[in-house]
Amino acid sequence: MGSNPFLFVLSGGRCYTGNMKNGKFKIIIIQGPPGSGKGTQAKLIAEKLGYYHFISSQEGKKYMKTHNDPETIKQKENYDKGLLFDPDWIFEVVKEKSKEIFEEKSGSGGIVYDGSPRTLYEAKRLYELWDELIGKENIKAVKINVNENKLKERARNRLVCDKSGYHVFARSEKLQPGSPCPNGDGILRERDLDKEEIFYTRMDEYKNRTLPGLDFLKEKSAIIEINGEQSVEKVNKEILEALEIN
Ligand SMILES: [Zn+2]
Repeated sequence: MGSNPFLFVLSGGRCYTGNMKNGKFKIIIIQGPPGSGKGTQAKLIAEKLGYYHFISSQEGKKYMKTHNDPETIKQKENYDKGLLFDPDWIFEVVKEKSKEIFEEKSGSGGIVYDGSPRTLYEAKRLYELWDELIGKENIKAVKINVNENKLKERARNRLVCDKSGYHVFARSEKLQPGSPCPNGDGILRERDLDKEEIFYTRMDEYKNRTLPGLDFLKEKSAIIEINGEQSVEKVNKEILEALEIN
């Protein structure tokens, strides 16, 4: 379906799906283990391309603020412990918001996912959703690879500004918890998420639950693997080149 131009013409003005599939709307998924720099990369790419930066945990948190049902309260408890949201709960939140963005942008532009899909279930559902709306050729996933020891070391040394989560620094003689942010706005803190115990929980969640989803995307040949053990600029350059969106 869709490859026959006559079929397209014959369907007259009712070829909504056909038009969308030829449209320019793109989906970029940025995924990687905790501390791989995926959030920073997603932000840079979304800014560069003018796409919506879709931070699933933030969309989840926004939803939690406006809903008080027992299911949503359970999700909040999971999140605080470093566990993943329930796949079907977060998928519904992601789906609702994604469709809203797609409709607002009337099919042009795109979304950079930062944090979705976190599970095989979510990967399948998200892929299915976007394949239907824009076609598989417009879906790309980027997997940022970083060795586990390196991630552990990054977590141990990470200090984050309490005014901007993107002001991230490594601990040094000059920079310690409580030091002013070198960007001049806040104070540097250790994050709970980087504590050793929570780091291991997040790492296990990544290996046991997120990786199978990335393997699924790989089977669909939608994945690009990037070496994340390089500078932010170098990683960013490699991602943009691999995506061929320039
Ligand atoms: Zn700052």
